[in-house]
Amino acid sequence: MTVTLDTDLARVLGAKTAKAMAESLELRTVRDLLRHYPRRYATRGEMTRLDDLQVGDRVTVLAQVRRVVSRKMRSRPGTLTEVTVGDGAGEMQLVFFNRRHGQLQQGAWGLFAGTVGQYRNSKQFAHPDFHLITGDDDEDWARALIPIYPASKDVSSWVIQKSIRLLLDASGGFGFVEDPLPPRLRSRHGLLSLPAALLDIHRPTTADDVERAGERLKWDEALILQLVLAARRRAAALEPGTARPRGRGGLLDAVDAALPFALTEGQRAVGEELAAELSRDTPMHRLLQGEVGSGKTVVALRAMAQVVDAGGQAALLAPTEVLAAQHARSIAGMLGPLARAGELDGDPAGTKVVLLTGSLKAVARRAARAAVADGSAGIVVGTHALLQEGVDFADLGLVVVDEQHRFGVEQRDALRAKGNRPPHVLVMTATPIPRTVAMTVYGDLETSVLRQLPSGRGGVASSVVPVSDKPAWLGRAWERVREEVAAGRQAYVVCPRIGDDDTGSAETDAPEDADGAPEKGGEDDRRPPLAVLDVAEGLREGPLAGLRIDVLHGRLAPEDKEARMRAFASGETQVLVATTVVEVGVDVPNATVMVVMDADRFGVSQLHQLRGRVARGKHRGLCLLVTEARETTATGQRLAAVAATSDGFELARLDLETRREGDVLGAVQSGKRSTLRLLSLLEDEELIATARAEATELLATGGGLADHPGLAAEVAALATDERATYLEKA
Ligand code: ADP
Ligand code: MG
Repeated sequence: MTVTLDTDLARVLGAKTAKAMAESLELRTVRDLLRHYPRRYATRGEMTRLDDLQVGDRVTVLAQVRRVVSRKMRSRPGTLTEVTVGDGAGEMQLVFFNRRHGQLQQGAWGLFAGTVGQYRNSKQFAHPDFHLITGDDDEDWARALIPIYPASKDVSSWVIQKSIRLLLDASGGFGFVEDPLPPRLRSRHGLLSLPAALLDIHRPTTADDVERAGERLKWDEALILQLVLAARRRAAALEPGTARPRGRGGLLDAVDAALPFALTEGQRAVGEELAAELSRDTPMHRLLQGEVGSGKTVVALRAMAQVVDAGGQAALLAPTEVLAAQHARSIAGMLGPLARAGELDGDPAGTKVVLLTGSLKAVARRAARAAVADGSAGIVVGTHALLQEGVDFADLGLVVVDEQHRFGVEQRDALRAKGNRPPHVLVMTATPIPRTVAMTVYGDLETSVLRQLPSGRGGVASSVVPVSDKPAWLGRAWERVREEVAAGRQAYVVCPRIGDDDTGSAETDAPEDADGAPEKGGEDDRRPPLAVLDVAEGLREGPLAGLRIDVLHGRLAPEDKEARMRAFASGETQVLVATTVVEVGVDVPNATVMVVMDADRFGVSQLHQLRGRVARGKHRGLCLLVTEARETTATGQRLAAVAATSDGFELARLDLETRREGDVLGAVQSGKRSTLRLLSLLEDEELIATARAEATELLATGGGLADHPGLAAEVAALATDERATYLEKA
């Protein structure tokens, strides 16, 4: 049979197996299967640390049968068989109800797959799947390293292993696999050929094989990703944009004159960088990273003003309605009469600032859209609603995306497409981005950083309140809130959930604790996360009785949200119990304490963002991370680390460690599977940097990608996947 990478798996494996693989693992072609690498390798005699398994994990383990005990069940008819297996380091029970398990003889070795459960004090698998390693099985099982694949309930690791074997037999080796990497590049970096690497990753003899194969296969991932990004950068550099040079006596000068503070050194420097780039007719693509509170908004506003002065429009895209409204309000406030051109008390030399969000009533929306379309609105602030069809700009000159981590590349592109010519783009994020992520996810952007906070900030102190270890501390936390309020200041209490009828933790994106546990099951036997509505009520009746407490969350009507936010901003509300709607950008300098309930349910970056809300004024902020997690657990230590440092870059690294990389990558994920299978953003920094340089050079020499059809095909496949993902989301 001739096999190619595009051959349908059904032809090699038969319809039934192929269907299961497609449905549960999204493996459809020979290429998919070959790129489905083992997660790890089991070796006989080397212990799998069964003791470390977490309840709920879906795992495959290699172990030996120790004891088999069958008994009649008392409560119902039938027999129950308990099989004890071990691997030297630990033991666990397999439980079978009325099932044939006759082959499970003492001393037999096998692979056992199931979801880890707990019964009394010991871990167990309830009727797991298993595959015994018998002497007369094929030579696969005699190998020293048995590959353990990411598997599913319907397709076990050993089925995948067998399938690879079938594929090898059918094709007479992996010789049919063409290597996309140019030979010169391969020899320069001492890389295996692709067929050799595939053979070694799926059927290694030694650990060295695995390592060399992995090194080579990571290169594929890094290089192809960097080629996509480099191509995007090149295309962007060739786009004709419109120069928006700095003018005098316009909005920008008015903004500068109205600023109640002096710009920091960093704000000035970045401002000059932006002013220069906006003056060119190549569209700017810049990422502005700056700690929470570093004053990115004013930097953006100055850039927007420059563009308006040059006759263009500027759009500011914010992730939430609350934030969009706040931006619109503060920009209008800063511009004064200059923001009300066309109105009675407006300055005719000014412009209009228009807010466009999904919740606008039809009449208001029509008016806003009209002002955007005829160009009278120079500054347009909005949420995703800006991306919709029917929003047409007269002359879009600059797109600013605030808090980028909520938006994908595609959304940025959708807004960019609204210009007659590609507009300039400024992306702002408060989440510090490790260099490797900047080189991948944001690989098509240049970067500026605001390191310095405006002086006179009190900063924020954080502590963990471990209620299991130190129950009395929670009472003390509420006392602190009362003290701050008594001193005329305000507090946030943040909860992971709204309450009432929502069940999930919809408003958080806490990472699963990725402690290397393979194949997470969906089960979560923790109690539901604390809810805004319940906590607010408890506080009103208990420790914060008598204070003016309000709630804020995503289920409120937008005007209602807006009104409550205003009541908090004006000081009328003293304690705001909220979900993470307060996470991004909300600016109430008088708020000095934040109590985060169930802090363990939030991600590291999210906590850092949250506490940024109480580091805004001249008073020192206090952030209390309340958790039931024990101090000694991984979760407890993660929280301790957040409390111990306010260095955003250090936390970003920590975040990367605790998140699965797919989550971090977001936009470069293709379908459900991440494009990065082996490449680690944390560990492969050097490789990524080298691949980036190679990619840039490859595109710049000779005919570029056209000289390398194999690579071109891979790049096209990745780019298509990205588009497909966007279509699915839209
Ligand atoms: P972020 O970078 O988190 O978006 P903001 O732009 O919201 O920060 O700024 C935080 C606060 O700091 C705002 O109240 C803003 O007015 C203020 N601010 C910005 N720049 C300066 C400065 N140079 N000096 C003093 N305060 C500033
Ligand atoms: Mg901001």
